[in-house]
Amino acid sequence: MNITTHNLGFPRIGAKRELKFALEKFWQGNLERDELQKTAKGLRQLHWQNQAKLDLLPAGDFSFYDQVLDTSFLLGNIPERAKSATGDALDEYFRVARGRSAIDNDTCCTHAGEMTKWFDTNYHYIVPEFSKDTAFKLNSANLISQIAEAKALGHNIKPTIIGPVTYLKIGKAKDDSDKLALLDKLLPTYVALLNELSAQGIEWVQIDEPILVSELSSEWQQALTKSYAQLKDCSVKILLASYFGQLKENLSLLADLPVDGVHIDTINAKDEVASVIDNLGETQVLSLGIVNGRNIWKTDLNAALDYLEPIAKTLGERLWLAPSCSLLHVPVDLDQEEKLDIEILSWMAYAHQKLAELSVLKTALEQGRNACQTALDDNAKAIKSRQDSKRVHNPSVAKRISDISADFALRNSDYETRATLQQDILKLPKYPTTTIGSFPQTPEIRTARRQFKNGEIDEATYTKLMRAEIQLCVDIQHELDLDVLVHGEPERNDMVEYFGEQLDGYAFSQFGWVQSYGSRCVKPPIIFGDITRPHAMTVDWSVYAQSLTDKPMKGMLTGPVTMLNWSFVRDDQPRSATCMQLALAIRDEVQDLEKAGINIIQIDEAALREGLPLRQAQWNEYLDWAIESFKITANGVSDETQIHTHMCYSEFNDIIGAIADMDTDVITIETSRSDMELLDVFDEFNYPNEIGPGVYDIHTPNIPETDYMVTLMQKAGERIPAQRLWVNPDCGLKTRTWAQVKPALENMVDAAKQLRG
Ligand code: GLN
Ligand code: ZN
Repeated sequence: MNITTHNLGFPRIGAKRELKFALEKFWQGNLERDELQKTAKGLRQLHWQNQAKLDLLPAGDFSFYDQVLDTSFLLGNIPERAKSATGDALDEYFRVARGRSAIDNDTCCTHAGEMTKWFDTNYHYIVPEFSKDTAFKLNSANLISQIAEAKALGHNIKPTIIGPVTYLKIGKAKDDSDKLALLDKLLPTYVALLNELSAQGIEWVQIDEPILVSELSSEWQQALTKSYAQLKDCSVKILLASYFGQLKENLSLLADLPVDGVHIDTINAKDEVASVIDNLGETQVLSLGIVNGRNIWKTDLNAALDYLEPIAKTLGERLWLAPSCSLLHVPVDLDQEEKLDIEILSWMAYAHQKLAELSVLKTALEQGRNACQTALDDNAKAIKSRQDSKRVHNPSVAKRISDISADFALRNSDYETRATLQQDILKLPKYPTTTIGSFPQTPEIRTARRQFKNGEIDEATYTKLMRAEIQLCVDIQHELDLDVLVHGEPERNDMVEYFGEQLDGYAFSQFGWVQSYGSRCVKPPIIFGDITRPHAMTVDWSVYAQSLTDKPMKGMLTGPVTMLNWSFVRDDQPRSATCMQLALAIRDEVQDLEKAGINIIQIDEAALREGLPLRQAQWNEYLDWAIESFKITANGVSDETQIHTHMCYSEFNDIIGAIADMDTDVITIETSRSDMELLDVFDEFNYPNEIGPGVYDIHTPNIPETDYMVTLMQKAGERIPAQRLWVNPDCGLKTRTWAQVKPALENMVDAAKQLRG
């Protein structure tokens, strides 16, 4: 028996982020075009080599910025504004990606394409733009040349492309026309593409339709049926890939599509595999995504074999094995890690290691487990060590969780009562002014943090430097006459990492980079075990900052849901359980801040919204535990303590009820970019507590005018009573310079004073 192994996509950034550095140099004009192409070619070559043990290697998964943008170029859907007399296709490409290419001078730039998250991942794609006049034209040179490259190296490849229906669905009609009306124009381009691939001698093409795991109206379902009815006449074989979730009501739709094979995410949709097998056509291939492409844990290979062996018996050679989705979402190579604890390291797998797991599974299925007994035994040992580890399971945490009672999540009194008590202490003016937490992170602060981390300066020196920075921030806030002050967060490199580093149960990698967008990578911390807080994390800094002023000093924490959503999490318990542990740990910090005399505590939930499941039908379940976790964190304080939260978005029309349920005294949100349009939700929903609609867009260097901010606040005042409004920027100021921040905040405080007058 021969089991085919394949991969849906490989991380393109390089184990040492080579692509990132080459791109950034190129954009700055410090790297020749040929050199950039050479780096890219070298990475593709290396990545195919890394995958050489597979039977089918992906091609077309490499991208200079984003594979959705590549698809737009492949289909000839290029915004007019990116075209220019100067430069080549790569310049056009970077203009759409980021507003300008290396050859463009400062005056020649266009606006970049909109960026948004790829399903429920932290990968951002450039949104395809459509209008009713959009035309498509196959532009396959780039893909064909990558295929030629792979073939020249002797690899057996399977090009991967994004399917027509997903492509339309995730794009945006700029003129509000019906995107689906474009399908008839789009399909001939796909037919031409598949025929061209066939002419290149390609046997299999992987077509990704991840929208299959979302709720689809009947029009969109029909679009899938229609598309694959047309594509089936092309002479390549189609492997239709779905991933990231369950198919549910789309299961029967998928079963009826005339494709040569289907790929199912066996991590997320395991329950549906049996039904897919039942409905599989006689010659259809089933690819099982058995290795998790979204996480960094080893696969339990023996358990996987227990599951796969009977299926292999039924399907024989028609069973294929792969990671659950593209490996784009995991780091490249665990072997590079030098500093990770060796025990934790032994539980983990990055892209290279995940592909090696596939090879072991293949051997065991083809030749019996004996043929790879050592690998299986080693794997079993690692799995067992993790299952039994005292570092993972802490009985005191389990006890605390089981001791949680209903009152943990509730404040003592309602908002009105609390507001009166708080005002007696805080004595804030109408339209109180504040900021979101961070102040500019200067090179000096970064250097001090790095030196302390590397042991180049001692703790006393470091503390002195940070305190000086806090003093500076407080002085400036006094000068600006802000009402509620912050310490400025100089000690924090990142709002999740800072807390993760101080909590037990968290590990940090050196090379666990994952592409977020373009050349931007993130290194999510790893939650491996039960979470505890060995000591207070922020109290000393906050107490010091409060000692410098008679005005209220806001304590600043990251909430449990954001900690969870921006980390690699455990796969041995539900996300909700991990979130609850984080909630208890941060609750302790909230209470310690309160005890230390901090009257206002902000708990940021920047990532609460992005944790929403792909299917709206599952939103409530998520919101229930997410909001409950937040409330357990926040609500163990006395009525006199004012709780704030901050969210860096404002598309929460559909979750506003849940946000109100958090019952924070004050919420600050992002609104300025949309001219307060985003506050429309408050026309219909009577938000019960206080709110600070961000009036200063910190995402640009521009200094907002006082009048403009007054107008924005007046617009807000049409929906929310003035006594419940705060005046603040729309996010933290860490990415700005003091030269930008000072005049902007000066104008903001002036705006508040005008409003009071
Ligand atoms: N308190 C954080 C800051 O000001 C909030 C950051 C965020 O919302 N992303 O930097
Ligand atoms: Zn924010």
